[in-house]
Amino acid sequence: MSKFMNSRFAGLTEYVPGEQPQDQPYIKLNTNESPFPPSPGVIAAVDSAALEQLRLYPDPDCKQLIRQLSERYAVKENGIFVANGSDDILNFCFMAFCDQNRPAVFPDVTYGFYEVYAALHGVPFRKIPLKEDFSVGIQDYLAVGSTVVLANPNAQTGLFLPLEAIEQVVCSNPDHVVVVDEAYVDFGGESAVPLTLKYDNLLVVQTFSKSRCLAGARLGFAVGAPSLVADLNKLKYSTNPYNINRLTQLMGIAALRDDGYYRKRCEDIMKTRAFTRDALRERGFAVTDSYANFLLAKSDRMPGEALYRYLKAHGVLVRHFDEPRIADFNRITIGARTQMEVLLQQIDAALTERR
Ligand SMILES: *Cc1c(COP(=O)(O)O)cnc(C)c1O
Repeated sequence: MSKFMNSRFAGLTEYVPGEQPQDQPYIKLNTNESPFPPSPGVIAAVDSAALEQLRLYPDPDCKQLIRQLSERYAVKENGIFVANGSDDILNFCFMAFCDQNRPAVFPDVTYGFYEVYAALHGVPFRKIPLKEDFSVGIQDYLAVGSTVVLANPNAQTGLFLPLEAIEQVVCSNPDHVVVVDEAYVDFGGESAVPLTLKYDNLLVVQTFSKSRCLAGARLGFAVGAPSLVADLNKLKYSTNPYNINRLTQLMGIAALRDDGYYRKRCEDIMKTRAFTRDALRERGFAVTDSYANFLLAKSDRMPGEALYRYLKAHGVLVRHFDEPRIADFNRITIGARTQMEVLLQQIDAALTERR
């Protein structure tokens, strides 16, 4: 930190994104990207006419994109917020809906960015331990008197909370916003979006990065009461109204038109997830019952970090977290079937070498 930096940030520890190594090609199963390309419509949307238009600023209101989202999710346009990836939205949520009297609560094992945002904005927060089996103890969030942030399916575990549980949390905290981060909902979960029509304190956040194969384009959206959306827009228009570039807006619109393509790709991922989960269990792994495009898996024969290192040395990248509760595990993104077959071969080799 230079002597010039605001001393408020002296204690801030920044988020560490998953590795994006450029040294050699890897089978990349570490950041929950899709193994599939975006739909044909998305690829066609970025033509030379679109590129020539880059001299102009994009539409700050993202009207067409929001219209398309409104049709797809059957909610009014003024109940939709869009931003530069869901990370951007989550940042605005901590800025907008938390303060000294409204601390944030979230699970101890979840998306690591939540506590970074809380620290960035100087918001008090409390991490509530997941139960022994990694499920969210719903009682812990009832009338909790805090802004609640829940990833559903949860990050790192993939476990899914039924909507009745989400609704209980929302109902019991009428004076606090409940943010439900649905980055992985398209892989077998059920979205809380319909509940946003009933409650003014529920905000559902989703992304085009995972199920819509657009991690590189940076596009996220949130659905909630128009009053919450207006709060978020106030912050967006106070920082960067042009935070979604022209090409990304076009790609987002095209992706929503090609919905069938993405539904099929999600089904492919779910099939490959079941195949990989069974194959890992046959090899003695404990594997969570994931509703996301990844598995959290622990070998009974090899420590998590050792397996991570072996796989990396052999061209397969998975994600290992140095956090006490999940240090024995690795998080493995579901890629194409052939990629998972290579992963399993390398795991077999690692376990054989270890014997
Ligand atoms: C990937 C992920 C995000 C971030 O998504 P972007 O839209 O790419 O910023 C947010 N929350 C969770 C739980 C995620 O896994």
